[in-house]
Amino acid sequence: MLQLSYNLGSLQEIDSYLHDTELQNHAARSRSTLVQFFASHVDSNAIPALYQRIIEYIPEAIVTGITTAGEIHEGESIMERTVVVFSFFETAELQLVSYHGQSEAERELGRRMVDTILSEPVAAPIKGIQLYATTQRMNAAGLLEDMQSRLEGVPVFGAGASSYHNHGETWIFAGDQVYEEGAAAVVFRGAELEIEVYPCLGWEPLSRAMTITEIESPTLLKTLDGIPAASVYEKYLGIQNDDNFFKNMLEFPLMLKRGTSTLARVPLIRRANGSLQLVADVHVGEQVRITYGSPKHIIEAAYDMQKKLADFRPQGILIYSCYCRQVYLQEGLNLETQGFRQIAPSAGFYTYGEFYGEGGELALHNATMVAVGMREGGLAEQFSGQEPNQVHLSESKPMEMTARLARFVGVVVEELEQANRDLQELMQADSLTGIYNRRKMDELLGEAMSSDEANDSLSIVLLDIDWFKRINDTYGHLCGDEVLKRTAAILREDVCGTGDVGRWGGEEFLLLLRNKKADEAVTIAERIRVTLEQTDFGAPGSVTASFGVTAARPGEEIRQLFKRADDALYSAKHGGRNRVVLF
Ligand code: GH3
Ligand code: MG
Ligand code: MG
Repeated sequence: MLQLSYNLGSLQEIDSYLHDTELQNHAARSRSTLVQFFASHVDSNAIPALYQRIIEYIPEAIVTGITTAGEIHEGESIMERTVVVFSFFETAELQLVSYHGQSEAERELGRRMVDTILSEPVAAPIKGIQLYATTQRMNAAGLLEDMQSRLEGVPVFGAGASSYHNHGETWIFAGDQVYEEGAAAVVFRGAELEIEVYPCLGWEPLSRAMTITEIESPTLLKTLDGIPAASVYEKYLGIQNDDNFFKNMLEFPLMLKRGTSTLARVPLIRRANGSLQLVADVHVGEQVRITYGSPKHIIEAAYDMQKKLADFRPQGILIYSCYCRQVYLQEGLNLETQGFRQIAPSAGFYTYGEFYGEGGELALHNATMVAVGMREGGLAEQFSGQEPNQVHLSESKPMEMTARLARFVGVVVEELEQANRDLQELMQADSLTGIYNRRKMDELLGEAMSSDEANDSLSIVLLDIDWFKRINDTYGHLCGDEVLKRTAAILREDVCGTGDVGRWGGEEFLLLLRNKKADEAVTIAERIRVTLEQTDFGAPGSVTASFGVTAARPGEEIRQLFKRADDALYSAKHGGRNRVVLF
């Protein structure tokens, strides 16, 4: 493949390049040509005529475009320009699929796009899909649903249309069509074509994890841990609803893990009721953290990504970078894109959300820079022979105080969370034997009894060591403790993976067996009885226990279930000990 791009003052200037015979020759030699516009100012009425001009010179051209919040051209961030990109492919085949889509009908739009993609009778494998959409006017999560479920293993990359001015018009273009609401996909097919997609973020977790407790819509976050989301920002960071709200948010966006993906979510606007308007979707129950982004760190993350991209040796690069980065990095903006110059021809733009991922991991990202490397028929010649480097990023400059403090807080939070987890574990463990304590067993039993599927195949075993008092009396309390520990270990080993085991009190233990009917529970109890009997406990020699077994009945209370197990155990004791009795 070959990628050529031009930095124009307006779309109309493309004429002079179309006349270029070299460009026409490239097109004539290619199997497919993709022409894309990333445009600041667009007269949408001019699009149909422009499209006609292009296909006059390149009849096979696939033409698409999008409005932006700024452009990227050969590793340089530029503003108020138009970038036109020609991608020539020797063997790859392209398909353009675009539809109008009303908000509320995003799912349907996504489904129709996937239907069209899958019905194309082309044998060559799909290597990637570039997706542009009017994300300011739709719920992108709906649009992605069918792509996630029906295009397993196909990388999707692209962006949402943006504009220079808040609430300015955003468009996407496909062929001679202009879409105020809709989506356009370019499907790349070809055995020789290789596409790799790389994301980078650079913000680091700062706060403890908080749970999303309420949303008003997928992109309107209402509460975190039951508190209005804006109040959380006010409490921890003193961020008020003033003119600097968005700028402050860029420093401290939210971050969440979904599958293996890390997704940033930047609050754009604070509503009067304390809800936060986000660019992309969140779900109730997801855990988020407030992050901190040091500009230096963000630029370093971009540099790390460029090194990986350079190893891929692409022939062309497309870049989708979030307008949040553009606003936040300001004068430093060029630092995160300049590394591309050393790798391959590159072009891109600033977005309202970035599409990235494949299969179930496909999502609309935010505050992220996504770079797409493409090559066809083997590795590219090394473009500049140089590694991408951070020429202007001073290594010696001391870490800023804010970055230090943010790091300090982040690490302290992590330590506290670990201490909390340790404490949770301690609270549910029996201190002598290390297995669950009675409290935890009660909790687990309650959960198991209230879950439907467990109810018809849930059994418990209550066991009590025989003549344990004698062991204490004869060999001492410490020896008795050892017997309890050993017994716990035997129980744990036996039911490991099939159930839970806890110390119910004294020398009594409880087994909770899910998906085990009464007869299976009896088999397990019998096996344990034999193991105990045959184990050498040291001074006391062999130790035996008595077992009461019963299965849960639909709708009953824990207390009823437990009473039967206790009755069965009583029978086992009175029947002569060292035996299993099923109620
Ligand atoms: P049975 O066969 O009827 O169950 O007789 P038993 O001796 O096992 O039952 P009993 O209830 O009379 O005695 C239980 C003893 O367990 C009494 C108590 O001191 C002892 N015990 C309870 N907790 C611990 C402990 O943590 N460590 C030790 N060493 N002994 C304990
Ligand atoms: Mg006993
Ligand atoms: Mg007892």
